[in-house]
Amino acid sequence: MQTFVFTGNWQLTTGNYFTTMEIKKGIGVSPGVVVCTAIVLDAEDLVIPKRQVDATQVPFEIDRFDQAIIKSVAQLTDQRDEVTVKYGKEIGGIFGVHLGLLGDKTIVNQVIAEIRDHHATAEYAVSTVMRKYANAFLAMADKYMSDRVKDIYDIERRVLHNLIGQKHENLAHLTQDVVVIAHDMLPSQTALLDRQHVRGFATDAGGRTSHTAIVARAMGIPAVVGLGNITSEVSGGDTVIIDGNRGVVIVNPDADQLAEHAEYREKLIVLDRELRELANLPGETLDGHVVCMQANIESPEDVTDALTKGAEGIGLYRTEFLYLTRQTEPTEEDHYDAYVDVLQRNGGRPMVIRTLDLGADKYTQQQLQNPERNPFLGERSIRMCLHDIPMFKRQLRAIMRASVHGDVRIMFPMISTLMELRQARMVLNDVMEDLEDEGLPFRRDIPVGMMIEVPSAAIMADQFAKEVNFFSIGTNDLVQYTLAVDRTNEKVAGLFCPAHPAVLKLIRDVIRTGQRNDISVSVCGEMAGEPLYTLLLLGLGLTTFSMNGPDIPEVKKIIRSTTYEHAKQVARKVMSFDSERQVMHFLREETRKIIPEAF
Ligand code: PEP
Ligand code: MG
Repeated sequence: MQTFVFTGNWQLTTGNYFTTMEIKKGIGVSPGVVVCTAIVLDAEDLVIPKRQVDATQVPFEIDRFDQAIIKSVAQLTDQRDEVTVKYGKEIGGIFGVHLGLLGDKTIVNQVIAEIRDHHATAEYAVSTVMRKYANAFLAMADKYMSDRVKDIYDIERRVLHNLIGQKHENLAHLTQDVVVIAHDMLPSQTALLDRQHVRGFATDAGGRTSHTAIVARAMGIPAVVGLGNITSEVSGGDTVIIDGNRGVVIVNPDADQLAEHAEYREKLIVLDRELRELANLPGETLDGHVVCMQANIESPEDVTDALTKGAEGIGLYRTEFLYLTRQTEPTEEDHYDAYVDVLQRNGGRPMVIRTLDLGADKYTQQQLQNPERNPFLGERSIRMCLHDIPMFKRQLRAIMRASVHGDVRIMFPMISTLMELRQARMVLNDVMEDLEDEGLPFRRDIPVGMMIEVPSAAIMADQFAKEVNFFSIGTNDLVQYTLAVDRTNEKVAGLFCPAHPAVLKLIRDVIRTGQRNDISVSVCGEMAGEPLYTLLLLGLGLTTFSMNGPDIPEVKKIIRSTTYEHAKQVARKVMSFDSERQVMHFLREETRKIIPEAF
């Protein structure tokens, strides 16, 4: 299967590429276009392997299916009997429904026909037939009936588990290029994906600034989330086009559609080449105003890619991914090794290490077992660190020890009160004293900054500015907390908007506060990497943009194609609008005047 990935944001218009196809529309969260074979993860992360077998294998597949049914019936019968004894007939009856569906001759015969007539593997046949039923149930107006779809998913999962549970493919070690189709993915799952072979993904759930989406952007693979029910539309082995630029997924495109895709691809390749040439040029406007272009990273491996895209340093190292990609808590040495590794790859450029931002959608194993009711408002980030001082100190010690190996800066996330900042600084001072007592070298005057990502911090920026060396605005959370919109929830994704005038006022005021207090301000939320907002942020006086490496060339292209004076005029006008629609419309038009192919 041929694969191609383009990782630019521009939205090219080419003929009728998208007019003739059946399109699943979702939220494009990571740009690029890919055509590739799909694997589908069910809720237990089983990978449904490729679908066709040789004709001689058909009886074997039918037998596998029969055995899986026998096993599933036996399990369900045991469970029904046990539950009936414990909780009574009514609850036990739930298993009765499942047993009834498993014994349904129409379903069983359809699966067998799928294997016999299309040489499908047993698991592919099961998932195809079950998903047809699931869709039929979903389409029913009767709420009771549409809710029954969960029973279908349950049965499908059970049978699949009995078919392939023991031999499912490991997503971290694939043997061929694939796109992953899943209901949802945890940031930790995304971070562990095999970077060589996973070429894109599409999910039922999710939002633009969920950490899963952010990891996809850092990996430079196209991703579309919030598709609703893509897992029931795709089966393992299907060919899928994922277009992260427009947020669409096309399942089993025909020959014409593939040809149209190839034409689209050619145009993107040309554009990609043009953008790459910008990598080594500065982020400088036509009238000589220079801004710094830095990268956000989740792991040391991201550094090399970011540098090839033109990063001038690391503006945000999300260190919590050290926790998410392993089963046990990292030791001080694990932290230290990772930081020194980044420093070495980073070649003397600055690196902002953000202390652990665990919680919310980045759970530790322990948090998974004790879920909070409202994790984004719960014991997240700095709050968690201040509740677990030994863990916090382990990280701070490692950062301080690494500080002698390069230009390291330290940043505290999700600060919402001055007290929190002062406590964090006190712990840092303790760590420095300990290191001094132990005779270990460290840089005492390490720059200490904080994220501005909670409205209270933005509103009190003036007070905070007296106590830190720099600010970094985390627009992903600032938007979420200012507008009361869960950044990971596809149902409210339309309300998640950095262009909201309330958010823009906070950003403008924080930048001005930084200027007044002579401390640097960057934006490291996703907004910094979105070409739509480049003119505005530039015009507001932002001096450092930190974004996913793949986004750098396009943002740089806009900066290099305008003047600072013009950007300031754009920003002034934007700040006079009172709706996000006006803001976005105006920014789109202004950006198109400079780069006609944008959007
Ligand atoms: C942000 O909130 O904008 C940010 C950069 O931090 P994270 O996305 O890791 O929460
Ligand atoms: Mg944040």
